[in-house]
Amino acid sequence: MTVTPLEITRPASVTDTFLRQLVDRVPGSAGATWPLTEVYTGEVLVELPQSTPADIEAAFATARAAQRQWAATPVKERLAVFRRAHTLFVDNARTVTDLIQAESGKNRRMAIEETCDPPMVMSHYLKRAAKLLAPVRRGGPVPLLSNSTEIRQPKGVVGIIAPWNFPFATGISDAVPALMAGNAVVLKPDNKTALSPLLGVRMLEEAGLPAGLFQVVCGEGPDVGPTLIDNADYVMFTGSTATGRVIGERAGRNLIGCCLELGGKNPMVVLEDANLAEAVQGAVFGAFGNTGQICMHIERLYLPESRYDEFRDAFVAAAEALDVRAAYDFGPEMGSLVSVDHLRRVQSHVEDAVAKGATVLCGGKPRPDLGPAFFEPTILEDVTKDMLCGVTETFGPVVALHRYRTVDEAVALANDTDYGLNASVWGGDLGAARAVAARIESGNVNINDILATAYASKGTPSGGVKNSGVGSRHGDQGLLKYTDVQNMAVLKKQVMGPRPGEDYAKHVDRVLSGLKMMRKTRIR
Ligand code: NAD
Repeated sequence: MTVTPLEITRPASVTDTFLRQLVDRVPGSAGATWPLTEVYTGEVLVELPQSTPADIEAAFATARAAQRQWAATPVKERLAVFRRAHTLFVDNARTVTDLIQAESGKNRRMAIEETCDPPMVMSHYLKRAAKLLAPVRRGGPVPLLSNSTEIRQPKGVVGIIAPWNFPFATGISDAVPALMAGNAVVLKPDNKTALSPLLGVRMLEEAGLPAGLFQVVCGEGPDVGPTLIDNADYVMFTGSTATGRVIGERAGRNLIGCCLELGGKNPMVVLEDANLAEAVQGAVFGAFGNTGQICMHIERLYLPESRYDEFRDAFVAAAEALDVRAAYDFGPEMGSLVSVDHLRRVQSHVEDAVAKGATVLCGGKPRPDLGPAFFEPTILEDVTKDMLCGVTETFGPVVALHRYRTVDEAVALANDTDYGLNASVWGGDLGAARAVAARIESGNVNINDILATAYASKGTPSGGVKNSGVGSRHGDQGLLKYTDVQNMAVLKKQVMGPRPGEDYAKHVDRVLSGLKMMRKTRIR
């Protein structure tokens, strides 16, 4: 494929000086760098330092030292940093958007949406964190004479490994509850998309986060991963299922906890009574939003036989009408894939499907005339499980249409996957739609929406089942996972053993009748 550099006006904020200041904090003692490029043109934006194992160890040592003082800072003072950060993040959303677009190639509408995620997470935990982190007094084994208190201690230093598809959201939003809970963070963003998270860290420091507490190290995953995991007290990983297994194995060997937010092969089920216009509009976002590079996006669409043709025709027309191009304004409805390498993966999925009998209803081709990594919105029919895109995540703007005859068949088809991250069910009768949603094996299910309602519900834990992950972000778990519980127990008087001189058999009688009493008593 020939790569034609585009004439495109880069945003005024993306200057060499600004970018060099951003990457300056990344340690790279061996002098190695990685050419971070503007996706739309393929031009190098900045040379990103690559961290050596010694650099990563030093980053952890600095973070660990800063963490001790941070953990001793009252929760109220810690939270005040995020109250200020919230304002800074919203005020600087457009500059963050410029960076996200330059490094990821996504369209501006998606990039600005991404900037909203950390402030939403901050807002939620600003309301919830103090309560979650407060000690909870509970009853002890001997009513009145004993008690136990659940005390939340920070884990220490949390290692975060983030992907390129939502670099700012995954890099910063997952750090927010970790920091609020009193931890330090060492973040490894993807090399391709390190700029926006680096600006996020800078804004947190401007808001008052102590220097040293939030470290950023960079490098290719297999180079940085092992040292990062071996030094961390907990790992938060977002990325592919294959890498998630590697991370999980190493964390397990080190006996540290981890949260793994992995890939999906997400189904959308349209029920007979769905509002078709809305469902088509939803499917356009579900399949092509963020150029199909959202972990929760839709790659399999199940339609009732009776409405198949009507839906297909409207969906194909809408996909063909999409404004796909490179621009740093809000015009384009779809942008680029993240890289030429990723384009090859997406293209290979489509070519494999076509070679095995799939039909291309629209799209199916790279668009080098638009930029090096552009690929057309693509709708396929006749996709089967012997095709790559029939079973594995394509992670591009490619979706397959399928017919079903009964709701049971639709549910069975939706569940016929190793993944379980997100699902979308569309129907007029909400009770019926809920009943279908409840039968889908998936960590998230959206009714009459694709993914935003579930993902933006920050009070509810969101994670994958099956091969889509372990643990979750958001909700109480999204913060508590970054803590250990200390069970501090107090016995006011030593009464649990036999009394002096008491016959042991008598003591046993007393203990057993005490057990019966404890079940009946209301004292906890
Ligand atoms: P990836 O697994 O290749 O990389 C993710 C991160 O892990 C990158 O920073 C990468 O450098 C690093 N990495 C790679 N190999 C590593 C190793 N051996 N040790 C340590 N770190 C390593 O994934 P990707 O292609 O960057 O991202 C796309 C994937 O992420 C898709 O599968 C998508 O579904 C998934 N994703 C999931 C969620 C979610 O919340 N479930 C969100 C976004 C993306």
